[in-house]
Amino acid sequence: MPAPDDPAPDDRVFFVTTPIYYVNDKPHIGHGYTTVAGDVLTRWHRQRGERVHFLTGTDEHGEKILAAAEANGMSPQEWTDHMVTTAWKPAWAALDIAYDDFIRTTEPRHEDRVRDFWIALHAKGEVHQGSYTGPYCVACEEFKLPADVVDGNCPVHGLPVKEISEDNYFFPLSKYADRLLDHYEAHPGFIEPESARNEVVSFVRGGLQDISMSRSSFDWGVKVPWDDSHVIYVWIDALQNYLNATGWPEPGWEERWPADVHLVGKDILRFHAVIWPAMLMAAELPLPRKVFANGWLLVGGEKMSKTKLTGIAPQQITDVFGSDAYRYYFLRELSYGQDGSFSWESMQQRYTSELANDFGNLASRVTSMVERYRDGVLPACDDPVDFGLAEVVADADRAIAALDFATGLARIFDLVRAVNGFISDTQPWTLAKAGDDVALDRVLYSAADGLRAIAVLLNAVLPKACAILWSSLGAESALGRLADQRIDAVAATRLPAGVRLTKSEQLFPRVEDPSAAST
Ligand SMILES: [Zn+2]
Repeated sequence: MPAPDDPAPDDRVFFVTTPIYYVNDKPHIGHGYTTVAGDVLTRWHRQRGERVHFLTGTDEHGEKILAAAEANGMSPQEWTDHMVTTAWKPAWAALDIAYDDFIRTTEPRHEDRVRDFWIALHAKGEVHQGSYTGPYCVACEEFKLPADVVDGNCPVHGLPVKEISEDNYFFPLSKYADRLLDHYEAHPGFIEPESARNEVVSFVRGGLQDISMSRSSFDWGVKVPWDDSHVIYVWIDALQNYLNATGWPEPGWEERWPADVHLVGKDILRFHAVIWPAMLMAAELPLPRKVFANGWLLVGGEKMSKTKLTGIAPQQITDVFGSDAYRYYFLRELSYGQDGSFSWESMQQRYTSELANDFGNLASRVTSMVERYRDGVLPACDDPVDFGLAEVVADADRAIAALDFATGLARIFDLVRAVNGFISDTQPWTLAKAGDDVALDRVLYSAADGLRAIAVLLNAVLPKACAILWSSLGAESALGRLADQRIDAVAATRLPAGVRLTKSEQLFPRVEDPSAAST
């Protein structure tokens, strides 16, 4: 098996997944943050010239869904249909999420393969009957270890756990502990960041218990194939979505499997880095290359979660600032993989100073000068300034490929500031007044070509603004579609002299009163 950090070979697809989200409730900005990260990562890899596949979806079985459906007077299937069409897909549309596939765990392509998987494991002796009693958090849909329960409450939700005792079918997780530890050791990039890896390693070293793979107290789930008085435990069912979405075991599934990155939150890390790989080991299937755990998203010091009534819908932010600003803010402000905080004040601050002033004003300033001084036609120039572009590209690519979006964006904005500084230093308006055409042409050409590179590099994060910029630079007729521009060729490509520029509209218009949105 190739090392997990190896780039995907040419015959494979770079396959990124988000968690499949639980549809008992609507999305909040934490879900949006993770999904934007997956979208940006796949767009970036696509502009590296790779074949890419981006999967998201919804987790639709389990006791909590059943309860939400009942509370809303619907059947569980009606409830999940309602939530997917009125809440989840609209949120991703509002954030310009370009997923290639959206899997739902109530689809036959998923449920049928879950049955096949467990029939095979049952036949191999990988399932046994037993009984289990322990504290269970319905909000997590998870049995908790007694040591993890804090004053009778779930450590994640702060809600009371209930003691559940059930006769269930079990998956012998305990016997995989050594193989899991060997895998973590042999593949240091399998779990990231390092804090997440350390937590999982020490958890597995502490010994694993066999886990219940079925439930029998309710029936909203995939029926256990050999005993229809049980349904498959919702997490065991849900984890398999990543594999099933590849079309496994139909021809072609190996193009996408193993997945390159499972993006998860740290609250669901053990499912993805312990239980899921053990299930795949039992089925003798390849393991994903990487499980990357993000930290908590805090608002006012509290974890973002509807349970604590701190939930903010993504659209509350995009309605004020737009989808590009949302995408930029979360990836630039927070350090992916660590805990981080959202605040309306820092959102407003970055929007105004970085997006509107540094980037947006640069675009309108340069395109309007080419209109004013050269009738919109880009002049030729023998010795354009390159603003250290090759180094910026190398640094940004290294950072974003490693999911360090904040560093990647900071480097690209170094380029934005370098072009701004160049204009301030050279004062093209003074050159125009003095009639120094050679010097003026050099400034106009260099700045416009710098903007061309910025549009290519920011396209994954700011697709709306960069499309407007690409059009106002006249770049499409000369260089082709923006999404087809290669990251690795950005320093070698040039905007040809003679293209026609038009003054760019405001990429990031002034926002009047963002505090109105927070109430
Ligand atoms: Zn919980």
